[in-house]
Amino acid sequence: MDFNTILQEIQEEIQKYFTKGKLANYIPMLTQANESDFAMSIITLDNEEHHIGCSDKKFSIQSISKVFTFTLALEYYSKELYKRVGHEPSGNPFNSLVQLEYESGTPRNPFINAGAIVTTDCLTSIYKNNAFDEILAFMKKVSHEENITYDEDIFISELGHGFHNFALINLMKSYQNIKNPIDDVIQTYFKQCSIMMNTKQLAHSMLFLANHGKDPFTKEQIINESKAKRINSLMLTCGHYDASGDFAYRVGLPGKSGVGGGIVAVVPKKMAICVYSPKLNVHGNSLIGTKALELFTTKTGLSIF
Ligand code: GLN
Repeated sequence: MDFNTILQEIQEEIQKYFTKGKLANYIPMLTQANESDFAMSIITLDNEEHHIGCSDKKFSIQSISKVFTFTLALEYYSKELYKRVGHEPSGNPFNSLVQLEYESGTPRNPFINAGAIVTTDCLTSIYKNNAFDEILAFMKKVSHEENITYDEDIFISELGHGFHNFALINLMKSYQNIKNPIDDVIQTYFKQCSIMMNTKQLAHSMLFLANHGKDPFTKEQIINESKAKRINSLMLTCGHYDASGDFAYRVGLPGKSGVGGGIVAVVPKKMAICVYSPKLNVHGNSLIGTKALELFTTKTGLSIF
């Protein structure tokens, strides 16, 4: 397949959507993104790479980090983690509080904010004060990139305005589903969200999930096959919050979005993809990113369905 031509066609066809969508503004620093930025990267398991647009430009990975923290936490916990975080779609916005009260402080899944905060709490129990360093080390390992860090300004911006996330963590603490001090956990969570990466690095980082949990280049088994299956299935059913059904319907791939404008997607046994465009739809997912992935699976027939 001629992926370069396909990427060029996609870039042309998405131009008409640039008038749509909005930058995330509840984290003030995110309004500084350039609305017309677009990048898309494809990396195959046999190390073929195709990129278009500003694929070297770094952006904050935001909720894409949830895939990696969940992977790391699953290494240590299986059954215990699943008691504290479910595996059902929430059908609610990413930062919703409502189900927590009905479900005794147990988030529906690890890819909504509440679930990711519990996951980060698990990592805090394991790594104590080194939790963020361990998350960063994991990102470096799976991306094969030493030069990855978080953006202090985005972190501070979210720390100062993350009232909704403070509400979530306090509510879960009241149900004893947060074991560590709130400030430690929330700071690690905000830092993981402000990790800066580009589409090349993110596509690279997802390859182990396209390859039964094994890094296709180093051959290291990052996570066992059965857990890799679970992570992919959660991305498919929960990776886009209350638009997960719509993403499966349009794109048909396991994927995970972030309010920074990135979306990662996995074509099982073939490749990983990352797309970036910072304007979001009403569900908090990149509007053009979703469109670009829809065009990709339509043109290539590479949806899982
Ligand atoms: N840091 C963001 C938040 O917690 C991440 C949300 C997202 O990307 N959907 O609100």
